[in-house]
Amino acid sequence: MKYKIAVIEGDGIGKEVIPQAIRVLKELDIDLSLVYAEAGYEVFKRRGVTVPEETIDILKHTDACLSGPMMTPPGIKGYRSASVTIRKIMDLYANIRPIKNYPGIRGLKDNVDLVIVRENTEGLYSGIEWRIGNQAYTLRVITHEKSYKVSEYAFKIALERRKKVTFVTKANIMRETCGLFRETVFEVSKKYKDVLVEEVFIDAMSMKLIQQPSEYDVVLCPNLFGDILSDEASVLVGSIGILPSANIGDTYAMFQPVHGTAPDIAGKNIANPTAAILSAKMLLEYLGEKDKAALIEKALITVFKHKIFTRDLQGNYHTDKFTDKIIENLRKIL
Ligand code: ATP
Repeated sequence: MKYKIAVIEGDGIGKEVIPQAIRVLKELDIDLSLVYAEAGYEVFKRRGVTVPEETIDILKHTDACLSGPMMTPPGIKGYRSASVTIRKIMDLYANIRPIKNYPGIRGLKDNVDLVIVRENTEGLYSGIEWRIGNQAYTLRVITHEKSYKVSEYAFKIALERRKKVTFVTKANIMRETCGLFRETVFEVSKKYKDVLVEEVFIDAMSMKLIQQPSEYDVVLCPNLFGDILSDEASVLVGSIGILPSANIGDTYAMFQPVHGTAPDIAGKNIANPTAAILSAKMLLEYLGEKDKAALIEKALITVFKHKIFTRDLQGNYHTDKFTDKIIENLRKIL
C-alpha cells in the first residue's frame, strides 16, 4: 500500500461523519490502507484511558490520521482531552483551519477566504497550572522553537495564497510571551520577502475579523487566541458543520472536523459530514494527492449548487444520502 492512514471515529457524530468521509476516499483511485484505532470518552468509560497505548503505536506507524471529534466532559478527575493528548505526543504544533464561503451557503459575510494557523501545543494550554490557597495560576509558555515552526508553516501557506500574514498578539501588555512570539514572526518573515506581514492585537482582531474578514489571508496566532478566533470565524461562513482542520507536525499530521461530538443530534443520521469530508480532502493534500483532493471539493460544490443540504443548512438530506450525492458527482468527474 502506498499510504497507511489511521482512522479514529471518535465520539458522538464522529461515528457517523467519519465513515462518510471514508466512503468518499474509497471512491478515489488511491492506494490507501486504513488502520482503525480508538480514542475519546467512550474508550475512557470502557477502559479508563482516553488514548490507549496501541492507538499511539498505530499513529506512530502510519503516515497520517483522520479523526472524528472526541468528547471532553468537564469535571471528571483524571480526564485529559484525547485530541490535546495526541497533539502533544505526536508534536502536532500547527493547527490549520481554512474558513471560506461555499456557493449556496449563507454566512454572516461574503468574500471570506482565510486560514487560521494556530500554535497547538503551548501558550496558555501548556497544562502547567497550580493553586496556592486562594490563588490559582496557569503558566503561559511561549518558546522560540514552536513559534518559529508555526510561523514558518504560516508563511509557506501564505506563499501559495494571497501572500499576507496577519499575526495576532497582545504584545503591548504581555511583553515577554507575546513579545517573543512577535520577534520570532518577524525573524521568519525575513525569509519570505514576498509575503506582507502585519500585527494586530487580539482585541482589535476580534472586531475586525467580523467587520472586514475579506482583508485577511493567513491569520497566525498563539494557542488560545487562535482557538477563540477560529470559533468566531466559523460564524462568518454558515455552519460549523462545514469546517475542517489539520494538526501538523514535522513528520505526522491529524485531520479533524472543527465541530464537536454534537450529542444533541448524535445517532440520528442528520449530522453534516462536510467537515469530515473536507478534512479527508486536506489529508490528501498533505499526502501530495492535490488533484484528487481538488475533485472532492469540486463534487461538494456541485452538490451545494444544487441546493442539496443537511439540516444544519436548512436542507432535508440525511448524512448518508448527502454523501451519496457527493459520490454521484465525484463519479461523473473521475
Ligand atoms: P462537544 O462537547 O463535543 O464540543 P458540543 O455539542 O458542545 O459538543 P459541537 O459538537 O461543536 O459542540 O456542536 C455545537 C452545535 O452545532 C450543536 O448544536 C450541534 O448539534 C451543531 N453541530 C455540530 N457539528 C455539526 C454537524 N456536523 N452537523 C450538524 N450540526 C452540527
